[in-house]
Amino acid sequence: MREKIVAGNWKMNLTKNEGLLLIDSVVNGLNTADVKVILAPPFPFISDTVSKVEKTTISVAAQNCHQTESGAFTGEVSAVSLQSFGCDYCIVGHSERRQYFGEDDKLINEKIVQLLAKNIKPIYCCGESLEQRQSEEHFEVVGEQIQSAFSGLKREDLLKIVVAYEPVWAIGTGETATPKQAQEMHAFIREKLSQVLRDEAENVSILYGGSVKPDNAKELFSQKDIDGGLIGGASLNATDFLAIIHSF
Ligand code: PEP
Repeated sequence: MREKIVAGNWKMNLTKNEGLLLIDSVVNGLNTADVKVILAPPFPFISDTVSKVEKTTISVAAQNCHQTESGAFTGEVSAVSLQSFGCDYCIVGHSERRQYFGEDDKLINEKIVQLLAKNIKPIYCCGESLEQRQSEEHFEVVGEQIQSAFSGLKREDLLKIVVAYEPVWAIGTGETATPKQAQEMHAFIREKLSQVLRDEAENVSILYGGSVKPDNAKELFSQKDIDGGLIGGASLNATDFLAIIHSF
């Protein structure tokens, strides 16, 4: 049975007090243990978040990591450091990293390898741009992203990865993929994974991300291959984030 997961990606938002208050509100308002909740705050919050969720079922993710173990990379953060601070997950390949920091799937593959070596589960983001969707290249694009990012990974590695399908045109735009569009792509991703994993592809959680809100979460999450969401904007508001989690 695959896990239902709702992860909140704060991106580069919130001051110390705002962030700590948000964590407390999520911890205090959470009333289900059936959904794995993951908080992905900016780096300075990682340590406090880990302490605050210690006695809960909530896990902590970083939003990025460097592809090497250590060294002269000013401003970067390594997987080994994240592990030592208690991070269980790390987002890789978010479209904002691809778009603004030039990350491609070859680099993302190196980050995935580094994370797996440190026992951190990657949350791998993929998804097509608006132009690619309009020219009906979306399956090809996502297929190639996955092929390249997961290249060389063993079966047991693949089973540790959470995939997040995030159509770029739906991130932070208020525009959401329809449940049918999302389900179609999730089924395609699972089929792609089954080329290596066979039946075990059923055990991989595939999240949808892109303007998930309390009023569209239920329908999206009720699709057969949608196992939860990666939530940006709505995760900054505890009431909305909790409503999304509880909509399962
Ligand atoms: C995201 O940041 O991954 C995301 C999906 O953002 P939003 O929910 O704001 O579209």
